[in-house]
Amino acid sequence: MVKEKQLHNINWDKLTFSITPTRSMYEAHCELDGEWDEGKLVPFGNISLSPAAGVLNYGQGVFEGMKAYRSVKNRVVLFRPEKNALRAATSAERVCIPPVPKDQFIAACEQVVRDNIDYIPPRGKGSLYLRPVIWGTGPVLGVSPAPSYTFLIYVSPVGPYFKSGVKCLNLRITNQFHRAAPKGTGGHKVIGNYAASLFPQKMVKKAGFDDAIYLNAANEKYIEEVGSANLFAIKDNVLMTPSVDGSILPGITRDSVLTIARETLHMEVREHSISIKDFLKADEVFCSGTAVVVTPVGKITTNNTSTTINHNKMGPITKKIRKLLLGIQREEIEDPFGWIYPIN
Ligand SMILES: *Cc1c(COP(=O)(O)O)cnc(C)c1O
Repeated sequence: MVKEKQLHNINWDKLTFSITPTRSMYEAHCELDGEWDEGKLVPFGNISLSPAAGVLNYGQGVFEGMKAYRSVKNRVVLFRPEKNALRAATSAERVCIPPVPKDQFIAACEQVVRDNIDYIPPRGKGSLYLRPVIWGTGPVLGVSPAPSYTFLIYVSPVGPYFKSGVKCLNLRITNQFHRAAPKGTGGHKVIGNYAASLFPQKMVKKAGFDDAIYLNAANEKYIEEVGSANLFAIKDNVLMTPSVDGSILPGITRDSVLTIARETLHMEVREHSISIKDFLKADEVFCSGTAVVVTPVGKITTNNTSTTINHNKMGPITKKIRKLLLGIQREEIEDPFGWIYPIN
């Protein structure tokens, strides 16, 4: 491993989920209907764009979120990067961005991690967050696909996502806003989805909640997800989560949780619509995502009534799933699914 010597003075104990500049970022380019060039590392820093760039005017952009971290085997690993590569390609196609080939996507992740290896926090202190973005950067005036594209990966050391650590989340079901429409872009990591979630998030935070739970837009009867994490409920040992039907983001952590529950814990697993009523009757509720991993939900508020879940404590099954997932990710237990991707 190169550059293991730390060449900066970051205080690992003070890391939050925020941006810290690093050494380099990866950058590649492509013309509309063309091929991606092989790309290269450039110093981390500001980029220069036409004010008419497609991404700036019409939101033609997609992103991914991944982590590189030190496992107990003392190696630097990624978690299921091929899944991010595939999702980035599907997201890109939804907004007419030329998809980045899977192998190039993964090789680019490896390259940027290797060059910023000394920015990966020590084991237990956090991880190096990877943010691949693919943007329409060429100029356009009318609403149409940009003439050229940029694939960029920047990285930042991060601590835990929620300031409170693994404390239970206090969530508000919102019927004032929708995150995604049926047949819209909710099922893809398209940048505009997140701009749309800022105001709802601000409103619920102002009212003292950690985040909003969105309902399905068609009739507001069913639970969808949190702004950047998928939702799960456990009732009588059955694990339930809304099915991926276009408006829910197909989380890689979601898929990993379902696999662990099914294959390792031999639980019954159901993917279907979950009504608000059934959701509030759950024995345990948690959310999942790369940033939040598995985080328990302790309280859910709808209109004026609050429901406490499992006495506002992490439930036993949530705990088991979290432990298994983190165990595999940290290489503390054997990875039976081939999820760990070491970087040499
Ligand atoms: C990224 C994201 C998730 C979580 O996906 P992971 O692949 O598990 O990180 C869930 N919901 C939304 C809306 C997201 O953007």
